[in-house]
Amino acid sequence: SNDYRMVVFGAGGVGKSSLVLRFVKGTFRESYIPTIEDTYRQVISCDKSICTLQITDTTGSHQFPAMQRLSISKGHAFILVYSITSKQSLEELKPIFEQICQIKGDVENIPIMLVGNKIDETSGREVESSDGEALSKRWKCAFMETSAKTNHNVKELFQELLNLEKRR
Ligand code: GDP
Ligand code: MG
Repeated sequence: SNDYRMVVFGAGGVGKSSLVLRFVKGTFRESYIPTIEDTYRQVISCDKSICTLQITDTTGSHQFPAMQRLSISKGHAFILVYSITSKQSLEELKPIFEQICQIKGDVENIPIMLVGNKIDETSGREVESSDGEALSKRWKCAFMETSAKTNHNVKELFQELLNLEKRR
């Protein structure tokens, strides 16, 4: 298909919207504006043709379980974001990963990227790189650390997920 749908999950405040806005618009804001759900569309070139990349930025909380299930059903690839400054935010990804497994079944064939964001906040680090790496091995998914603030690894994150999807 020429339509890739990526969904971004993670606890409130970890930087989901910031990563998406950095990638789609090239901007970053210091203020925190809670999201309900936003979808961004981009036309990109892939394999000598063009395709539509649709990125859904979710609320991150469990306030809307029906919306979460629908986003998982419709999604082709998933970005699971925690903040390296919060162990709790890593814990909060576990039920989301389990729900992806439940809904998608054969999760090994689904592109998933575990993302530790806010690596610019070096003094506040609570989650070591090796912790994120270990969890990604357990989940058999990809792993990356990013900063939406400094634009570290943001393009690479979306590009890598697209590459994983093309390789399926
Ligand atoms: P969301 O709830 O997961 O969508 O989080 P937001 O994208 O709204 O970001 C929450 C707060 O964290 C905002 O104040 C952002 O400016 C800040 N933030 C997001 N990404 C980063 C980052 O990479 N580094 C730092 N230092 N702050 C960030
Ligand atoms: Mg948000």
